[in-house]
Amino acid sequence: MTSTPLPIHSLTLGEIEARLAAAGQPQYRGKQVAQWLYEKRARSFAAMSNLPAALRTQLGEEFLFQELEQVRVLGSADTTRKYLFRLADGALIESVLIPASPALYGEASDRRTLCISTQVGCAYGCKFCASGLDGWSRNLGADEIVGQFLRVEELSGEKINNLVFMGMGEPLANFAHVMQAIAILNAPWGVGLGARHITLSTSGLAPQIRELADQPLQVRLAISLHGATDEVREQIMPVNRKYPLAVLLEACAYYTSRKKQFLTFEYILIEGINDRVEDAGALVRVARKVRGVKINCIPYNTVEGLDWVRPSEARQDAFMAVLEAAQIPATLRREKGHDIAAACGQLRRQTLAPTVETTGEE
Ligand code: SF4
Repeated sequence: MTSTPLPIHSLTLGEIEARLAAAGQPQYRGKQVAQWLYEKRARSFAAMSNLPAALRTQLGEEFLFQELEQVRVLGSADTTRKYLFRLADGALIESVLIPASPALYGEASDRRTLCISTQVGCAYGCKFCASGLDGWSRNLGADEIVGQFLRVEELSGEKINNLVFMGMGEPLANFAHVMQAIAILNAPWGVGLGARHITLSTSGLAPQIRELADQPLQVRLAISLHGATDEVREQIMPVNRKYPLAVLLEACAYYTSRKKQFLTFEYILIEGINDRVEDAGALVRVARKVRGVKINCIPYNTVEGLDWVRPSEARQDAFMAVLEAAQIPATLRREKGHDIAAACGQLRRQTLAPTVETTGEE
């Protein structure tokens, strides 16, 4: 063995080749291994049947082959399905498969979208989200991020063609591992998922938004905005104290100046908190500060036990009318069950909790 074994699904092809070369193997073996992992979806080194037995043994010494253990699945084939996975250290994470998303980002579509987690817990404590309730435990490794995609495709028997980083955790707080996972998911030798079918969501980590802007990747970025003044946003998202709106908007403007694509502002409409006509006016002013912004408004789904309330349709319409009059590109998504794009982690209360209740499998 040449060095400490690393999870093989956390490595790029170049890194696999380098480790195999250091162990005395020819370079082409790396491509064969990647083909087994991502094209043939082998579930162990032993299953890589056209490799010499000695090499398969050696792979087991050089690398770890860790598969996420399925603990439970909730939902059925034609509804949102929630997968609960146990990691090697016993931590639990969730991934959510949405068989069709008719209006995700305002585009008619029958894509199958997977929403994945990037951390165990979350340190950011957004008020509408259950992910942060127990605080943050650790970052996921790139293999644990890639592993969610591979396991859900395998367990569901369905091909996923859209990936959103909106599950448990703040993706940009686990920047290096998320970028490594995206490299593997995007690569032709890897999963081969187009970068434009990958959306990162952030609560507003300004420095990492700038860092992302400097990456060559063309992934989509969604900002969980939810408030258009510091006063409103701070009520909902404590991260605003660290990165106030002015700082966040400067980072967003930098992002859109570097990328030739829209940036999405997610805005959950909550009655009496951020859904007044003057809030819409503030949102217009915010949107005008960043070129290339689209706004996704999502009426909050009232959940028993929480203080927040979904605004009436009349209030929603009045809010949208202000955006429309100002010619700000904006959509309102009223469908229930497609709230997955509302905010990272929000689905855990808004979409998943009802699923748990109706299936009665908890
Ligand atoms: S919405 Fe996202 S960033 Fe905010 S607490 Fe939930 S998981 Fe963390």
